[in-house]
Amino acid sequence: MLRNNSYYLLFFLLYFSTGVYAIEQTNSLLTDIDKPNIILIVADDLGFGDLGINGSTQIKTPNIDKLAKTGVNFTEGYVTSPVCSPSRAGFMTGKNQVSFGYDNNIGGSQLGFDPEFLGLPISQKTIADYLKPLGYINGLIGKWHLGDAPQFHPLKRGFDEFWGYTGGGHNYFPSEPDGKRYNIPIQSNYKTPNPLTYITDDVGNECVDFIQRHQKDPFFLFASFNAPHTPMQAVAEDLALYEAIPDKKRRTYAAMVHRLDVNIGKIMQALELAGVAENTLVVFISDNGGPVDSNASLNAPYRGQKGILLEGGIHVPFIMNWPKKLPTGTVYNKAVSTLDFVPTFMEIAGGKVSESDNFDGVNLIPFITKENKVVPHPNLKWRFTISAAIREGDWKLVRLPDRLPMLYHLPTDTIEQNNLALKEVAKTEALLKKLGTWDVHLPHPVFLEGAIWKRRQLGLYDAEYPVTQPNNE
Ligand code: CA
Repeated sequence: MLRNNSYYLLFFLLYFSTGVYAIEQTNSLLTDIDKPNIILIVADDLGFGDLGINGSTQIKTPNIDKLAKTGVNFTEGYVTSPVCSPSRAGFMTGKNQVSFGYDNNIGGSQLGFDPEFLGLPISQKTIADYLKPLGYINGLIGKWHLGDAPQFHPLKRGFDEFWGYTGGGHNYFPSEPDGKRYNIPIQSNYKTPNPLTYITDDVGNECVDFIQRHQKDPFFLFASFNAPHTPMQAVAEDLALYEAIPDKKRRTYAAMVHRLDVNIGKIMQALELAGVAENTLVVFISDNGGPVDSNASLNAPYRGQKGILLEGGIHVPFIMNWPKKLPTGTVYNKAVSTLDFVPTFMEIAGGKVSESDNFDGVNLIPFITKENKVVPHPNLKWRFTISAAIREGDWKLVRLPDRLPMLYHLPTDTIEQNNLALKEVAKTEALLKKLGTWDVHLPHPVFLEGAIWKRRQLGLYDAEYPVTQPNNE
């Protein structure tokens, strides 16, 4: 008997000393009813300056503005890459994607690289994988762009429901002469997809349907819009709203952003109607800066664009709205990262982040509520193909292969035009050392993009960019 009791004691000691117990204990503090719903709304290739809250003089975005005005507007929010696919690999895993070799956009397979690895490595867990054991129903509506091969499919990466496409973009209309590459069929595992009407509306409608069907579950919805990514296609009634914009591409872009905003309004209304608006965290970002050259977006007040590490490529709109827990109408001005999504979502869902998760992000909630007064990140680092950058406090250094490093003091030089590298040599050396040491400890990329992108990238650093809003037209 005594011997049996010893076994029980041993069992309890082991049980109580494991991480499993810690997670279960945290979970028990939240019932399913308390667990917030989480919606991550991602715009694709949206310019920083093309929202009302960021000073747009041309485009009206009342619904996105409202999210910021009744929530938290992060004015120093960054993505981890200036292009779609690696940026998504970062925020889907909570780890800087270069730490698992995901430096590049998914392009064709390159000589010497195994196409088996052309996607988010299956060794990595996604947000959906983390939320599933915490009782969440996970849905992805729209763009995936983390691998086309079967092993990378969203339904194998923690998502219960998928309506969308696995590639990097899609035609907006059922057919359009300039949308050949993007006219792939929509997949869904829970319904036979209707023919497309206008895809921004279709994604919005599917999100509303998801909310209606899952209003009683704790849910995670990744609302992955392709607007305003190319091809440039808008509906006539939205084009009419912006007829005063003379440039056709810019006018089309404005109409596409308008339609995105309308559909975000629909999602917010669906939350209200379902009675779950109060306890739903809604996050809004763009996956990278606007590609000024291809969709006529505007990243003002920042210089640069999609594809490069100047602010215009990586400094994005970044909003969180959660009426039940977050202060309303707040501006948070310390540097934050989309890497912070996974730890934030996990902990508000009742999970516990542990060191073995190896996240590069942090739970932002204690920083927003001022429980934690230090900065979330001592520094942020980027590596993108031929370039690398580090931001530490007010300073940012960008390293390219064909020129001296570029050192900018961001608060006094928003547009990164005064290179202080030779005036502040000690600072330049210190940041180069930190960046280079980090870089050489990272693994090699697991796949590459075509070599032409290297040359294009350097050209983008030398291009001219509009950094102010146009006069009201
Ligand atoms: Ca993008």
